[in-house]
Amino acid sequence: MTFPATTRFAPSPTGFLHLGHVVSGLYSRIMAGESGKFLIRIEDIDTMRCTPELTAALREDLDWLGLVSAVPTRQQSKHLPEYQAVLETLRERRLLYPCFCTRREIAEAATQTAPDGSVVYPGTCRHGAVHAGREPVWRLDMGRALEVLQDVPGWQELGHGRIAGRADAFGDIVLARRDTGVSYHLCVTHDDALQGVTTVTRGRDLYEATSVQRVLQNLMGWAEPVYAHHALIIGPDGQKLSKRDGAEGVRVLRQEGWTARQVLDHPLVRQALEASFIPADRRPDR
Ligand code: GLU
Repeated sequence: MTFPATTRFAPSPTGFLHLGHVVSGLYSRIMAGESGKFLIRIEDIDTMRCTPELTAALREDLDWLGLVSAVPTRQQSKHLPEYQAVLETLRERRLLYPCFCTRREIAEAATQTAPDGSVVYPGTCRHGAVHAGREPVWRLDMGRALEVLQDVPGWQELGHGRIAGRADAFGDIVLARRDTGVSYHLCVTHDDALQGVTTVTRGRDLYEATSVQRVLQNLMGWAEPVYAHHALIIGPDGQKLSKRDGAEGVRVLRQEGWTARQVLDHPLVRQALEASFIPADRRPDR
């Protein structure tokens, strides 16, 4: 990586900060390097699961660890009108449609699974549907979007080269959820563009999401970042993490007397970072 990178760590406060977050935060800071910018963004659009208490706890744990954002931390729930404006643009371009199907109706009609394991929407409402008394979700018409782009966009994965996108295998994904009116893919791509993120760092569990996010970036004319998906923590012997391994979160380790340095240097954190791509010029910065 030769340019000064802007990276971000974008946790969702659905629970307390755990070692998986520590890997993501550290990896993002390492990838920013000394000349780059490391940002923290709180992705709390799911207001049912992300409470103000959990957000406050997350901020406190990050401060304790010394993971500090180069700019004031952006909190997505405070910017909902900005995401609504993007939806409006896509709606005007007839790239979105309302869908009234219930989860159950979709499960019964669906026949395909997307690369990320989600169910591919069978397209029931694509050509117009109304259902009095039901709130719709808004879906991206993926076929139309790819037609507009005349391409299935791929991405640059650091250390691995160009990766072929698979957006066509996702079908019509939800961009505005029924409960929150927005969605993860929408908010994350909007904010990465707005904040000038050049290097999207995150766990390998979100690798496949990149295909969809590249479509949104291209539709909206947003800059293309590069991507670096880090290895996930695996417990000893591939088992789920135990309490002793920090499964209950950074605050439990802290109460047990661990220092911030020790948590950052936790063997499971080290192991995940060692299994991740880090350019030679970024390595020592811990
Ligand atoms: N907020 C997302 C999560 O905590 C991560 C988003 C991203 O890094 O793209 O799973």
